[in-house]
Amino acid sequence: MSVDSSSVDIRGDFPILETLVNGLPLVYLDNAATTQKPRQVIDAISGYYLHDNANVHRAAHALSERATHAFEGARERVRQFLNAADSREIIFTRGTTESINLVANSLTNRFRPGDEILISHLEHHANIVPWQMLAERTGARLRACEITEHGEIAMESFRALLSERTRLVAFGHVSNALGTVNPIAEMTQLARAAGALVLIDGAQAVAHFAVDVQQIDCDFYAFSGHKLFGPTGVGVLWGRAALLDSLPPWQGGGEMIEHVTIERSTWQRAPYRFEAGTPNIAGVIGLGAAIDYVRALPRERLLAHEQALVQQALDGLATIPGVRLIGQPRERISVISFLLGDSHPHDVGTLLDQQGIAVRTGHHCTMPLMQRLGIPGSVRASFSLYNTRADVDRLLAGIEKTLTFL
Ligand code: PMP
Repeated sequence: MSVDSSSVDIRGDFPILETLVNGLPLVYLDNAATTQKPRQVIDAISGYYLHDNANVHRAAHALSERATHAFEGARERVRQFLNAADSREIIFTRGTTESINLVANSLTNRFRPGDEILISHLEHHANIVPWQMLAERTGARLRACEITEHGEIAMESFRALLSERTRLVAFGHVSNALGTVNPIAEMTQLARAAGALVLIDGAQAVAHFAVDVQQIDCDFYAFSGHKLFGPTGVGVLWGRAALLDSLPPWQGGGEMIEHVTIERSTWQRAPYRFEAGTPNIAGVIGLGAAIDYVRALPRERLLAHEQALVQQALDGLATIPGVRLIGQPRERISVISFLLGDSHPHDVGTLLDQQGIAVRTGHHCTMPLMQRLGIPGSVRASFSLYNTRADVDRLLAGIEKTLTFL
């Protein structure tokens, strides 16, 4: 498939994009679920297993030293990627979900009955359920601000729900279901002024634009490696060093302790107190390679390319009778949700798959959002930097053909 002149020619880095699906070249538009991996990431992972495989931080032998060097090197890469002040602030987890659960568990002792946690109706289940569990453990109350008819956070509702009772505010940087880019700087400022801690779920943001945690001024930022061209099973929690050092660990075991007797143990400082047991060493090294990959790309140009693809798709969808867009945020990135007439999203997804086009259908792990919008689910096309104008053309033609079957 030819690459548009407007994009950077990187498709060759992603071997899977050559795959045929149902005899047709794959059009991969499920990037919000997971991104494809460039050869550089695949090679870094297999290179670790081929040449350096050993456990980290433990032995004095050469392989362990090499593995530890690569592992800690990835931590420094993540620090630079997020512009964090100190690599001690980078905790490796299994992904966004585990990062948020870590915070929710470690904060347990700080919550009293009547304290409030504020989220929004736009959130992914990963940014809802851990807070419900925290509320249940502590007697705190979970509140959710409203959204507008366009699928944006209703700021007046957000402001109205913030009070001296709010101890923590947690919201997504970008909505995985609608693509809405939230005003995170303003929300963080308001939440901090109310005396609350701020956690940002960055799962859908990091692959698309630069994130600077010091500039945002939040307390925690979470993301997953697999949505950033890295492997599955690895993610990051960033937190302020002093705050992390003041929180108890949530899992006990090797590596996270300073001293152990049968009666009691003392903890290492962050990040190690939150990294019990053997970590996902290959995954972390793969994530480091993904960050190297992304940082070497002309991101401004690629972001403009992605935005052009989204606009091309929106313009095309507007001309097809029977297409109903779900959510019309003013600031949107790389995600379009829609329905075709009264058809079930799953049927649409299956018919598109038969034409080699991969989209996601269903509630996108955002059931409360779907309830607010009054729909059971949607069809979601999500774009990445390796998608092309030809992919969008195939999607639009695929939708027109699908409509003739429904
Ligand atoms: N938050 C958002 C906004 C997401 O899109 C996702 C993944 N769909 C998650 C959290 C959870 O990420 P993971 O499954 O990688 O832990």
